[in-house]
Amino acid sequence: MKLTERCTVFISDLHIDSDKPEITSQFIAFVDGLKETTDKLDAFYILGDWFESWIGDDDPDTEKRKAMQSVKELSEMDIPCYFMAGNRDFMAGEKFASDSGCEILKDPTTIGLYGTKVVLMHGDTLCTDDIEYQKFRTMSRDPAWQKQMGALPLEQRIAMAAQIREQSKEATDDKAEDIMDVNKKSVFQAFAEHEADTIIHGHTHRPAIHQIAKDDTTNYDTEKPEFLTRVVLGDWYEQGSVLIWRKKNYELKTLAR
Ligand code: MN
Repeated sequence: MKLTERCTVFISDLHIDSDKPEITSQFIAFVDGLKETTDKLDAFYILGDWFESWIGDDDPDTEKRKAMQSVKELSEMDIPCYFMAGNRDFMAGEKFASDSGCEILKDPTTIGLYGTKVVLMHGDTLCTDDIEYQKFRTMSRDPAWQKQMGALPLEQRIAMAAQIREQSKEATDDKAEDIMDVNKKSVFQAFAEHEADTIIHGHTHRPAIHQIAKDDTTNYDTEKPEFLTRVVLGDWYEQGSVLIWRKKNYELKTLAR
């Protein structure tokens, strides 16, 4: 995608792996466009689930490696590139960072975006109605658990990742739609906790710009603006989804495949 005005670009939920090479192709074409217009690009953010899974920094998947190489090249053109882990690629470590040219951000991270304070998240921490998943999240983000996992042979980790994906798919099929969306109270808590009026996240695969009147909120009494804004990035299963943030406006775009 070629840029026409100075901006910062956000994406998430590509779920790249060797089973879906068409996503990698679209992603690489997208990054190639950014490379042609780096004079307009202030920074590039990937807010999690870049990959369908990440079994550790020795993950050999060729599609993931191609995607990482393309971003590394972008970073070598002096574009700051950032990655925040999702619920699929939370095993990303230091070697992942150097191989992809991305600085790894903590979830959540607050940034200043052309004068607006913005909270960046993957989005899974907002889905607090899914208690079963939140338990898995707590376990899998524990450094001791990650160390233990990382020490297993590569083949075993590949098999485990496939198994976890299968289980997650089955669980997802069984869960009610609203359980897998954000919890309204958790969203308001996030706005309040960070004293910000804007959140950008992915994860739910429900691309939208939600504007919530502050009157609806409890215990939140900042004067301006009147609205809280929550931008949700879409997934890349059937098309691309990208948020372009400029000094004066922003746009959530769908990229046809
Ligand atoms: Mn996710």
